[in-house]
Amino acid sequence: MSSAVEKIGIYPGSFDPITNGHIDIIHRALEVFDKIYIAVFYNPLKKSLFTPEERVSLIQKTFQGNDRISVEQFGGLVVDYAIKRNTYTMIRGLRAISDFDYEIQLAHTNRQLNVKMDTVFFMTDSKYSYISSSLVKQIALFNGDTKAFVPSHVLHALKEKHSHG
Ligand code: ADP
Repeated sequence: MSSAVEKIGIYPGSFDPITNGHIDIIHRALEVFDKIYIAVFYNPLKKSLFTPEERVSLIQKTFQGNDRISVEQFGGLVVDYAIKRNTYTMIRGLRAISDFDYEIQLAHTNRQLNVKMDTVFFMTDSKYSYISSSLVKQIALFNGDTKAFVPSHVLHALKEKHSHG
């Protein structure tokens, strides 16, 4: 049996900004996938703190030098991104059972849009299970310490945002 076929996955999300929770999921996924496309989705219905370019750059900095990770932004549906990359396996993270309701809806919807779509879920380490980008943004807005939740370059970017805001 040939093992030459690369296992490639897509990790789509807002990543506004990337947190230690996302990073934990990516490290777990790298144990299973040879290559991961991290796709930063621009959702006009969701107000974001960082521009898509800034979000891409923060993720790139996190995985600098890792040639198994590619980061790019995409303004459309995950199923269209999947066609663009010819990769139909989506990676998503689960924090708690409460994530599951939305994730199962998303997984079924994507499959309805394209029958080839599949979703693989990874469970975060329990120490990251309460972290979300929105909480991190709230803490940073009120000058709280986000050190435990994000890498240092993201912490600096959050401080920079609020010092100009
Ligand atoms: P979206 O807007 O698509 O939900 P997010 O950036 O908020 O984008 O999340 C992307 C994925 O990462 C989702 O599957 C989400 O459940 C997961 N995720 C977010 N935070 C964490 C965390 N702390 N631990 C594990 N998974 C997480």
